Amino acid sequence: MEHAQALEQLMQLQQKMSAFGHAMALLQFDGGTTAPAGTAANRGQTLAILSQEEYLLATGEQTVALLTELDACKDELDPKKARMVELLYKSIREMQKIPMDEYVAYSQLLVESEEVWRTAKQNNDFALFCPYLEKIFETERRFALYCAPDMDPYDYCLGKYEDGLTRQTCDEFFSVLRARLVPLIAKIGQAEQLPDDCLHGHFPAADQEALSLALMETMGIDMAHCGLATTEHPFTTSLGSHFDVRITTHYYEDNFASSMYSVIHEGGHALYDLGSDDSLAYTVLDGGVSMGIHESQSRFYENLLGRSLPYVTHVFPKICACFPEQMQGYTATDLWRAVNRVTPSLIRTEADEVTYAMHVMVRYELEKQVMSGALAVKDLPNAWNNLYREYLGIEVPSDTEGVLQDSHWSFGGIGYFPSYALGSAYGAQLLAKMRESVDVDACLARGDFAPINAWNREHIWQHGCLYKPGELLARALGEPFDPTYFTNYLESKYSELYSLT
Ligand code: ZN
Repeated sequence: MEHAQALEQLMQLQQKMSAFGHAMALLQFDGGTTAPAGTAANRGQTLAILSQEEYLLATGEQTVALLTELDACKDELDPKKARMVELLYKSIREMQKIPMDEYVAYSQLLVESEEVWRTAKQNNDFALFCPYLEKIFETERRFALYCAPDMDPYDYCLGKYEDGLTRQTCDEFFSVLRARLVPLIAKIGQAEQLPDDCLHGHFPAADQEALSLALMETMGIDMAHCGLATTEHPFTTSLGSHFDVRITTHYYEDNFASSMYSVIHEGGHALYDLGSDDSLAYTVLDGGVSMGIHESQSRFYENLLGRSLPYVTHVFPKICACFPEQMQGYTATDLWRAVNRVTPSLIRTEADEVTYAMHVMVRYELEKQVMSGALAVKDLPNAWNNLYREYLGIEVPSDTEGVLQDSHWSFGGIGYFPSYALGSAYGAQLLAKMRESVDVDACLARGDFAPINAWNREHIWQHGCLYKPGELLARALGEPFDPTYFTNYLESKYSELYSLT
């Protein structure tokens, strides 16, 4: 076969995969947003058939032959095509190493375990979820050994979410954070607490929705290609390509800041997805490259920009326009202080910028121990509570607010959590780099995101999955990753907010 013909087939294969992905993502999005409660089984039937077809397309003889041929002449391909072949070939080879019956059995287990986890969380019943979680950890370990027999299984799991990440790099990263954050949290704990009464009151969902749209507009999100919906847990998804991105939020009528910062966070994910170069659409290179880089963008907009004084001051009049009575008597500085209040708390997704990484460290330490066999799954609740006492100085009153709070383990997301903390740290260093050529504070003060977004587009978004996350970051930063940018940023910001000496 001529290269030209094979390359044409490569593009057609990816278009088909995108179409399957589009249909399945839309069904899932519908399930989480507007679908009536009794329609899950109907959707499940269609999803099962589509995912089977997708699996057959990806692992079929024709696909394997095509990729084997292209892999052999990878060096002659242009960088984009070579990377497409690399990514597709890698995922197919891994799929082939896992026996089909074990793969199907695990998919079924995960569907069940998400249901069981939900019930267990509702009823504070870890014992109900425990046998499922044991099987999940056991299967993740077994599959890791099938795919990479020479690698430590937990290193393999970490690499699934952030290519190249290992226990060693995580340990080093977290030890830097721990050394600097533990004393900072202690100092803040002794300082006078920041008031946050301006966040509390009654904020009707309809008015919050008006604010959401205004915020998306300030961020420079292309509303012709990005929609907003409401769900129990906020998320971002791309449908088919970066030409159709959806974000969701959840409105709590007694506190508008929760949705406000969800919208800015998910808006950051959306900007990243929307910013892929158009030539990458309908290929495996379209969209974000890893969870860590994705979080570097979402947490960049949410915290580094969204919780800064210039941005809060810029959006304050918009907030007052949505909630004129509730905001009466408060200033932009009151709001800035309120949204930066630090309190050790039980729930990761509601944690402030300073304590957030400690929540991630608890999960990382426990996953590492369970994967190595040092900790039994049944002992997780106790170990969880001990680490919350040690890292955050708080008592966990129930497993619902403790070990059962996150959905990640129930869908097999072992190794996922560290990317949240890594993303925060990547973002802080990216901001320092951006400041060398962009007057970020002046842009925020006048509500002009164009220069900020242009920088991110040039260095991060447009590349999609062309580079591995480490390489993308090194090219953007021009120096090695250094987590002290993040700890310095936190120390300086919170020393000012809490008047620490
Ligand atoms: Zn996120």
